[in-house]
Amino acid sequence: MIDPMFEQEMRAKIVEVIDKYAPENTVFGGWDDAENHGGMCGRFKIPGTYSYRNKIVISFPYARNYSWDWVRKIVLHEIAHAKLPTEGHTPMFREVCDSLGGIRTGADLPYGLKPRFEGTCPVCGKKQLEYSRKPSLYHKHDGEEVHFDWKYIGEVRIIDSIETLRENIGLIHVCINKEEGIRESLEIDPEIDIAEWSRKLILKDGVTLKLKKNSYRCTLGDEENEITIDAMSYTVVSARKKQ
Ligand SMILES: [Zn+2]
Ligand SMILES: [Zn+2]
Repeated sequence: MIDPMFEQEMRAKIVEVIDKYAPENTVFGGWDDAENHGGMCGRFKIPGTYSYRNKIVISFPYARNYSWDWVRKIVLHEIAHAKLPTEGHTPMFREVCDSLGGIRTGADLPYGLKPRFEGTCPVCGKKQLEYSRKPSLYHKHDGEEVHFDWKYIGEVRIIDSIETLRENIGLIHVCINKEEGIRESLEIDPEIDIAEWSRKLILKDGVTLKLKKNSYRCTLGDEENEITIDAMSYTVVSARKKQ
């Protein structure tokens, strides 16, 4: 079972590190589901002013995959970017990053994302482990391109029932690029945390879960609202009001 507070506590710890070490104009922007980076730091002009805000985004898969010590080092790397917004990975950046205790690159992490898929070549039986399916992967056998078959082997159960969803409710999160759309669809105020709002809906009596055929998506709702969740990553991807 996943700690039901996982997302909330992880978020709080990230915010704490940002508040302690980052320049004042830096905020935690939220999550993405990236598997090719642990984090990102973007610089945005604050409308109507000459000032900028740094937004640090952390990959939820990374936050899940590594111990807090390593997630913290990823956050500190992004804080170094916030301190030196125009530098890139230069020697000066490395100095600041080292002094904060951040990782220099993703290669400093002790291992990769744990595989969730096992691919098998249907002809020779060779197996390959990957975090995501690689539909383009093939072998050439007798001049034919033979694509791998993929099987989910992830440690977290894919959402197949309301019970599974509730057991792993700590994984419910929203990615930064979907936040505004979901907020608008549900007419939720900016102060309200959408992940928290979604968790409340999931735990509500009488909500129904519908699994979508041939896709890793499911929908959950009451009479008023409905959210769509990626059944593998536990990401709330969209929402709608029913009336
Ligand atoms: Zn970097
Ligand atoms: Zn083969």
